[in-house]
This record gives sequence, structure tokens and C-alpha cells, in this order.
Amino acid sequence: MLGGIQVTTTSGQNVEHLGGLMLMSFHFKKNETLNAVDGVCIEHGAHGASGPLQLSYRQPMLKGTSVFIGAAEKLGHTNLDYNGTNRGGPDGCVSAHQTTMASGFRVDAYSAFLKNQLEVRPNLKMFPNSMATRILLEGTKATGIEYSDGTQTHKLLARKEVILCCGAIQSPQLLQVSGIGPASVLSACGVSCVVDAPVGRGLKDHLMIFMMYDAPGVGLAMMNVGPTLGADALRVNPTQVFDKGPLPANPEEDEKLPEELKQLKAHAEVLVAEYMKTGTGIPASSLYEASVFHSTCKEDLHTHDSQISFMCSGFGRDAWETLFHFDCSKYFEDPQKALAATNENIILAAGLVQPRSEGKIEIQSGDMTKAPKIDCAYLSHPHDMEVLKNSMRQAHKIASQMGVGNNLYVPQNVTKAHAGATPMSDEVLEDWILQYTTTYHHASCTCAIGKVVDPHLKVLGAHNLRVADASVMPNITSGNTQATCYMIGQKAAALLAEDYGLSISDVPGTAKCRCTCM
Ligand SMILES: Cc1cc2nc3c(=O)[nH]c(=O)nc-3n(C[C@H](O)[C@H](O)[C@H](O)COP(=O)(O)OP(=O)(O)OC[C@H]3O[C@@H](n4cnc5c(N)ncnc54)[C@H](O)[C@@H]3O)c2cc1C
Repeated sequence: MLGGIQVTTTSGQNVEHLGGLMLMSFHFKKNETLNAVDGVCIEHGAHGASGPLQLSYRQPMLKGTSVFIGAAEKLGHTNLDYNGTNRGGPDGCVSAHQTTMASGFRVDAYSAFLKNQLEVRPNLKMFPNSMATRILLEGTKATGIEYSDGTQTHKLLARKEVILCCGAIQSPQLLQVSGIGPASVLSACGVSCVVDAPVGRGLKDHLMIFMMYDAPGVGLAMMNVGPTLGADALRVNPTQVFDKGPLPANPEEDEKLPEELKQLKAHAEVLVAEYMKTGTGIPASSLYEASVFHSTCKEDLHTHDSQISFMCSGFGRDAWETLFHFDCSKYFEDPQKALAATNENIILAAGLVQPRSEGKIEIQSGDMTKAPKIDCAYLSHPHDMEVLKNSMRQAHKIASQMGVGNNLYVPQNVTKAHAGATPMSDEVLEDWILQYTTTYHHASCTCAIGKVVDPHLKVLGAHNLRVADASVMPNITSGNTQATCYMIGQKAAALLAEDYGLSISDVPGTAKCRCTCM
């Protein structure tokens, strides 16, 4: 799912940092082609129509998604394009998710921006399975990087600049191991400090908490999801996340299958073939289908602090334990019953998307291959707990409007610890949040514009060195972060073109694009 033009505008200041709303909008639009579908609200003027990144909506919309959108509308969340210019004011909006997808198949950054580019761009070289281990510095001037291919260390010298895009964890790590970071952190690891800077500080992330409901007739049972992914997805496969499929690991053993499993296998093969042909069906979905964005504290007319997402299924025990990392025997009275493959469950994920808590990334060694310390400091600011509780209460109102409010699975260890308290009471919600909140994986802000880099993404105090990734966000977006990272990439390209007198005539990712060598 994408964030969007408006969701990044957490304050006027942030907008100005990246060159103003209109310019940011330009770079978002340049990336995308939004393929419209019937029955979904789209503000066409807010979207690109010829960028390399294909966006679309899941087709057909699942029943549960329509029920969720209808319920949210009844509670005052207008059905709007969440990436449009109108996001519904404090009461916010509800939208089906815009996903990076073309004709039902996932589009990733590689296929949108890099595929086939090696052949047509003489100035692009890729070094697979390699890791940048240090920025080469002459004083405060970056002259290149040192990298390892796993067996040997090499040096790459820059003719003009070094641009880091290792993400919000590893860009600050690479800067710190190279001597650019907080002096005390570097000296503790024996790294001489070249530039004393707050690199790695200000880490922000989005949080969410799952609220699962039994939703007969609305949710998707896992026994209906599994076969749509094809026979191989139903195999026992301990090397994959979901390891307990009913079919044997070795397809050669299928001949001995009982009739019931033979039929299941045949059914799965038909379903996956249908998806491969049409791009429609359950595999075209992450089952994460729609969201409400709204403001729980009503402080900002435009930016929303809460996202409530709808998942069409409750998933299975494997997912709860291996993907979400919950102890099911602690969470559920009877995990087998609650997460039975036949159960039609749904999940509403209440989310905190304008956190005030700030964490940090700190190296623990001068060696880039050693993991840094990631201290997210989640919920360290009391405001965040309040927003998350309010987000859960609103999610529960939507679930009640959907007719399933009485079927909420409150974690049993929380219920037991607060006997007599109602599910939406402060004491229950706070305990639930402290034990079961999970990350959206949206780390950002660790080399923030204004603190570590300037508005041209140049590292303050250093020369010939820029950063262009999630780490430069001055504040976290209030929507998912991927689209904003693509936008930052476009903006970085425009800044470089401006600085070196180049022109970007075509859209990156299209075959005709040729960039002048730098
Ligand atoms: C599980 C998960 C699910 C997510 N789902 C969504 C979603 O649905 N929607 C959404 O909008 N966002 C989502 N995100 C967030 C989104 O993926 C990130 O915000 C975005 O990819 C960050 O982009 P980036 O360019 O900053 O860093 P990255 O995408 O992390 O890119 C950094 C790259 O640098 C490479 N790298 C790092 N260190 C080195 C080094 N030393 N040498 C060489 N290469 C290096 C990494 O391998 C990586 O390829 C999700 C993230 C995760 C982890």
C-alpha cells in the first residue's frame, strides 16, 4: 500500500524541506501510473498516469472489505481517495488500498525502476551480494566507498559524490562506522569522530495492534485462502514461514495421497491457474485491503494520527506465531478453536501513525557487519499510548457497526489480569497495547533533513556526501512509507540534475530513458 502526497505533510515546515507541496506532489506523480477501477473513489488529478510504478486496486473487492468501508462511512469517515487532496478533515476518510500492482501481480522497486536498465544505462553498475562497509573520507570530503563481496574488500572511488540509500537503519550505521555521528557513540566503539552529528537520532516508526473478531459471513476462512495459492503452498515445508501444509513436502509422494487430498490438490491447481491467467482472485491480495485514516486528537485538520486497517482474514496459527511473534497459548483460551482453518475471522489493526516517541540507532562496533543497536523507544512519549487507545476504540466501533463487536478476542492473559474491567477500558487497553503492539516496519527519520542533512540531502558538516532514503524524512509520514521513499529518490535525482546542469528528460524505468554519465 502506498502512503501519499498529503500524508507526508505533517507540518508546513516538512513540506518546505522537500521543496513544497506542489513539488513533492510532482515527484510522487512522476513515479506512478494509477490504474482506475469501477466502484472505487479516485481523485485523478492527485495521481500520475505515466510513471513506471503501476498502482491498482485488488479486483474484485472482497465482501468483508465492502462491509468494512460501509461501516466506516456510517461512522463519519468519508469514502475518499486517501491519497487525494481532500482527506476528510479530522474525521478522516476510508479507502480501499492502492497497491503497487499491475493486472493483479506485485510490482516492486526492482521491476519498476531497475529491470532492463543495466542494458541501456552505461552509468549504472550493480554489485550483487556486496555490502558497503565504510565511506572513504579525506578529512570531511567523501571520496568513495569501501565494500565487501563476502570474501574480499574493494574500493570504489566517486568522481563527484557518494549517495547513501541503505535505509533508515543502515544509512546511519554506515555514517557512524565511517566517523560521522555522535562523538560519544563513536568513541565508545573506537571510531574516530570526523563530524560530530546527531546521526541515528530521532528514529520513528508506526505501530499497530491487532483486534481479531469472529465474523461469520464476512471474514475469509484460511481453508478458502490456502488452496488459492496453489498446491505447493499447501506442502509441508519447514524452510518456509508456514510449515504445516497437508500435502507432502515431496510431490513424488502425491500418488499415495488419500482421495480427499487429491481433490484438494486438483482444486488448488485450478485456482492458481485461474489467477495466473486473469490476475484476479485471492492471490492478487495481501488480504490487507482497506484503511480508515482519522485524527483522534483533532489537532490537525489534515494530518491524521490514527490508521485503522482491515484484514479480510484472521490468518492461521503459523502466521500468529511465526510472522506476528505472538504466543498463541497465552493469547487465546483455545488457539486451535479460535484460529481453526474453517473460522471466518477478520482483523482490524488499530495504528499509531504520528508517533511522538523517538528512538535511536547506535553502532556497537566499528565493523559494518555487526548489527547496530536499534532502540525504538516505542510508547516512551505518553501521547502515543492515548492515540493508540483511541484508535482501538474507534476500530471497535467500526467492528460493532459491522455487526461483530461482541466477537472480539481480547487476549486472555489480559482479561484475566483485569477481571471485571470492560474490554475498552483504559486498564485493559493499556495492558493489551504494552504486550501485543507490533511494528509496521516503517523506520525513518534517522538522518533527518534539518538535523543530519540539508534540504539538498547533503550531510551537514561533510562534503560530497548525500543520503536519499527513509532516514531523511524530517518527520514520519502518516501513511505507509514506501511511496515517500520513491518520491525522495525522484527528488534526489532532480537535485543532482540541477546541481550538475543535467536534464532528466524521460521517466526512469522506461526503456527510452538515457541519463548522462556523471
Ligand atoms: C516487512 C515489511 C513490510 C512493509 N510493508 C509496506 C507496505 O505495505 N507499504 C509501504 O508503503 N511500506 C511498507 N514497508 C516499508 C517500506 O518497505 C520502507 O519504508 C522502504 O522500503 C524504505 O525504503 P529505503 O529506500 O529507505 O530503504 P530500503 O528499501 O530498506 O532499501 C535499502 C537497501 O539498501 C541495502 N543496503 C543496506 N545496507 C547496505 C550496505 N551496507 N551495503 C549495500 N547495500 C545495503 C538493503 O539491502 C536495501 O536493498 C514495509 C517494510 C517491511 C520491512
